[in-house]
Amino acid sequence: MSLAPIRASDALKKKLAKLGLHTEADLLVHLPLRYEDETRITELARAFTGEAVQLELRVLNNEIQFKPRRQMVVRACDDSGEITLRFFSFYPNQQAALSEGSRVRVFGEVRGGFFGLEMVHPRFHKIAEGDPLPAEMTPIYPSTAGLATSALQKLIGRALADGDLSETLPDEIRQRLKLPGLARSIHFLHRPPPGTDVDTLHARNHPAWRRVKFDEVLAQQLSLRRAYLARREQGAPVLVAQDDLGARLLDRLPFGLTGAQLRAMAEIAGDLAQPYPMQRLLQGDVGAGKTIVAALAACQTISAGWQAAFMAPTEILAEQHYLKLKDWLEPLGVRVAWLSGSLKSKAKREQLAATAADAQLVVGTHALIQDGVDFARLGLAIVDEQHRFGVAQRLALRKKGSNPHQLMMSATPIPRTLAMSYYADLDVTVLDELPPGRTPIKTRLVADNRRQDVVGFVKKHVEEGRQAYWVCPLIEESEALQLQTAQETYEQLFVDLPGLTVGLVHGRLKADEKQAVMAAFAAGDIDVLVATTVIEVGVDVPNASLMVIEHAERFGLSQLHQLRGRVGRGQYESSCVLIYAGPLGEIARQRLKIIFEHTDGFEIARQDLQIRGPGEFVGARQSGVPLLRYADLEMDADLVEMAREVAEEMLTEHPDLAEKHLQRWLGAREELLKS
Ligand code: ADP
Ligand code: MG
Repeated sequence: MSLAPIRASDALKKKLAKLGLHTEADLLVHLPLRYEDETRITELARAFTGEAVQLELRVLNNEIQFKPRRQMVVRACDDSGEITLRFFSFYPNQQAALSEGSRVRVFGEVRGGFFGLEMVHPRFHKIAEGDPLPAEMTPIYPSTAGLATSALQKLIGRALADGDLSETLPDEIRQRLKLPGLARSIHFLHRPPPGTDVDTLHARNHPAWRRVKFDEVLAQQLSLRRAYLARREQGAPVLVAQDDLGARLLDRLPFGLTGAQLRAMAEIAGDLAQPYPMQRLLQGDVGAGKTIVAALAACQTISAGWQAAFMAPTEILAEQHYLKLKDWLEPLGVRVAWLSGSLKSKAKREQLAATAADAQLVVGTHALIQDGVDFARLGLAIVDEQHRFGVAQRLALRKKGSNPHQLMMSATPIPRTLAMSYYADLDVTVLDELPPGRTPIKTRLVADNRRQDVVGFVKKHVEEGRQAYWVCPLIEESEALQLQTAQETYEQLFVDLPGLTVGLVHGRLKADEKQAVMAAFAAGDIDVLVATTVIEVGVDVPNASLMVIEHAERFGLSQLHQLRGRVGRGQYESSCVLIYAGPLGEIARQRLKIIFEHTDGFEIARQDLQIRGPGEFVGARQSGVPLLRYADLEMDADLVEMAREVAEEMLTEHPDLAEKHLQRWLGAREELLKS
């Protein structure tokens, strides 16, 4: 592969580097954004206004005008008519090229101006009479300030003439996938022959584009897959249960596992017994029952004589997990420790000592990954709501042991092809079944001038013995303002709901205050809990079956879905009331429509993806997506599927070609991603 640096001046190299172009190989796959057809000349008399055409003109005169602003105004003609060319910025050499009597080809959009036909800032070049027309379309490349299109065209032309475009896909695979050859495709895209349908090129569904996009996605899959296989080379503790702790936990549960939970459990159990570290993501919609699956994995770890850690992103959620896991496991003789930032120093010392000695399960927040936390024998690291943590934090937890197994959990469902890109370096288990007996949540949309009706609805709901959440508006600009609103809402509901107990929880409360409020709500001592989004993740109070969200139009779809998922967890009919304030923007309107019409997290995620695009979707995660320039995960989903299979095959059967393929597409970039 030609990883030779581009031959150019230092100044030019700097500009190219801005576009990620360092080597000759990079130039070859720097493909046009669009094309202009300069293979034909249009006669002025036949040019339509609004149409982009090439004209061949003789300059009649050229003058600099100063009104209404400084501009160069050129009159020019062909045999069929006259036109005015206007330039608002220009260099002396351009002025010279357009001097009276010059012959030029200009390319641009014809407009009908006050003084007849006009073109503003056309591309142009001087010619001699009889100069041949180009035989191919003119590629217009993604460029950067100060880098002339013509300079890029020249460099790329040179690379095309002597660059290495040898095949990296074995013939037999290429034919199976019905993809055209690489060299042919690349040449075609840089230099489409005249008469090519520019629309299919621009829509990027020409076979040549498909080939390029496939190669790009393949490079991404190869890169992620290779990282995954490299991790398998590392050793990890083999966790084989030595007693029946897991079975005893199952016996104690008031419910049986769903089929999906059983499948997940079996997959994880198999992974833990391997001599290399598990890297598994357990995905399941809100309320699918991920916690018990994680608890069973912890049981296997403990039975094998190792420790398990369980980390959650918020104090409220971590504590809830701690209480639940303690309740499940302590009666079975398991020693459970608890670490959070809010522990008093004496308690903290005790918990740290237990973690370093004989605790078997350690539950906590980020406190788990602080310096000074030492695990005696960490065998399994569980991360709940994993997308809430950064790469570094997940890594820090892993570093607390020597290559422990990792189980990550997420209720943010992402569509399959997106998952293949974001999680190609992980094994994924999906809990695609909710526990039985859940009553579907009824969602209502209510305009904010009917807030009093909602208050009445809450009252009735509480009188029936249920509890409710009332979530205050998200105010992104200001946390202080958000707190103030929560406080005001709390006071207002206190007035509006005489006789009911109203509680308030928000992010600024001290940890033990938060815990006290949540405990009171869980115990049924609070009827209506006014909350900021601190309750967004994980909170589980089955008797709470009404969720009111104010200013729902300000929330993102996954947030709304998460919040709504706080209800519908018991046997009672549950509802979610979304109060919105108009006028709604287009995106807000679409979001509310989606959340109103759908309850399935995957479907919501799929539609969310369409509104937002994949970039924002999964949050900050080191992933292969930045590797994609041409392929679109939504539009080219089939290519992602194909590439995933081919990547496996190439790594095992054609490792040399795989290596060469990666070099071509990623070159130095792959190193960047790994660091
Ligand atoms: P999530 O996947 O959102 O983390 P949880 O693990 O918090 O969901 O489970 C939601 C609720 O469902 C909890 O109250 C849990 O005890 C209960 N649950 C989990 N699995 C089952 C099951 N198989 N049958 C009935 N209830 C279940
Ligand atoms: Mg959960």
